[in-house]
Amino acid sequence: MLVERDSLASGSTSKSAGGIRAQFADELNIRIALRSLLEFEAMAEEVSFVQDGYLFLLDREEDVASFREAVALQQSLGVPSQVLSPDEARQLVPQLVVDDLLAATFCPRDGTATPESVVQWYARESGARIVQSCAVAAIDVRDGIVCAVETTRERIATGCVVCCAGAWSSEVAALAGVTLPVEGIPRSMWFTPQDGGLPEHLPLTIDFSSGFYFHREGPGLAFGGRDEDVFEAAARRLPVLADLPLQTSWWGYYDVSPDWNALVGEAAEVSRFLYATGFSGHGFQQAPAVGEHVAELVVGKTPTLDLSPFSATRFAEGGARPEAFVV
Ligand SMILES: Cc1cc2nc3c(=O)[nH]c(=O)nc-3n(C[C@H](O)[C@H](O)[C@H](O)COP(=O)(O)OP(=O)(O)OC[C@H]3O[C@@H](n4cnc5c(N)ncnc54)[C@H](O)[C@@H]3O)c2cc1C
Repeated sequence: MLVERDSLASGSTSKSAGGIRAQFADELNIRIALRSLLEFEAMAEEVSFVQDGYLFLLDREEDVASFREAVALQQSLGVPSQVLSPDEARQLVPQLVVDDLLAATFCPRDGTATPESVVQWYARESGARIVQSCAVAAIDVRDGIVCAVETTRERIATGCVVCCAGAWSSEVAALAGVTLPVEGIPRSMWFTPQDGGLPEHLPLTIDFSSGFYFHREGPGLAFGGRDEDVFEAAARRLPVLADLPLQTSWWGYYDVSPDWNALVGEAAEVSRFLYATGFSGHGFQQAPAVGEHVAELVVGKTPTLDLSPFSATRFAEGGARPEAFVV
């Protein structure tokens, strides 16, 4: 049973850029991506999954070194990523300014999908009972064991709870006396009604040092960045963008953990209080593999992927596990 205080996908998921990539630095994130890609590829048509690739643009020596290392790791795991020269990057996106670039990386299996469609796909396929407009108000824990969830509509007797409340997960966890270090950090996106003549098959392109990124969105472009003042970096890297009108914008929360990697597992304080949150900008794309993992934890099956390194206990144990390639 899934309870959602608003409507399905109304949280960060509907604000996401919909990016899906295997180009990570952390091996576990690459494995999660490979597992999730199989699912996205299977539902591709229904969720508009377009595999035009991810293109990372690199203008700092230290980034070139870490991306080269990561591409070697990705390739060893079966990811078809590669290091490109600046000129090769411009062949993919001719409107880019590449004079100051040192290198780029590209993976043709990466792409974008429509997050709300993915949520609807799971809602339909899961067979779960879904109750919208229903907020979790309290979690009844006795002797360290979950007994029930009090919602604004009904009391649900249960011996197992999964906290997947995104940027609001720390508040929901606190209802059970569990500490989850998740913080909501706002991120904005802007949309143009035209594409400025960019290629039909446009990779999701990320200017890694500034954080400016863009991808195709219908007849126009979507773009965003780490800061509100992304416009200067955008105009420098993709001058054509500065000539396009803005149609709309939105913002949403990144659900950020202290090391910018997911929090997945069972609470140390309360038995059968499971959590999947803190995805820090890559939570939409990790949903298939992480969702499968949580389902396995619920029914006590041996996990397909060992995600125990993502336990929230890692911070107390001095084992932070940073993901380097975050935007
Ligand atoms: C601008 C932007 C761009 C992004 N781009 C990408 C991207 O390209 N690729 C990617 O993988 N990720 C991206 N992300 C991150 C991604 O959106 C999130 O990591 C992901 O959507 C988290 O999903 P979730 O289901 O855990 O949380 P959410 O989608 O936030 O869902 C949590 C839900 O919990 C509900 N809730 C909260 N409290 C309660 C309560 N008390 N009772 C009941 N329900 C409750 C909320 O209403 C919400 O619907 C982006 C995020 C932003 C903001």
